[in-house]
Amino acid sequence: MPSECEQCGVTSRGAVVREFDGETLCVDCAAPGDCSRCGADTSELTLAGEWLCKSCQNQRREQQESRDLGQHGLGRFADG
Ligand SMILES: [Zn+2]
Ligand SMILES: [Zn+2]
Repeated sequence: MPSECEQCGVTSRGAVVREFDGETLCVDCAAPGDCSRCGADTSELTLAGEWLCKSCQNQRREQQESRDLGQHGLGRFADG
């Protein structure tokens, strides 16, 4: 499994290295992506390999925390 950036040689131990359009690159070398939630340009890549800007990461964390508190039943989808 390739885990070394083709451009700068950093390994997945030191950075998030994954395939971008067939190239194995670290997040620093990869072109910034679009946030998968709001579409804004972002260089924030989650550990799951998903482009997600800071504010959306914060939003998701808050959602997960409120879910962890045991909310269930009626979901509130007041997005935006
Ligand atoms: Zn690199
Ligand atoms: Zn976003």
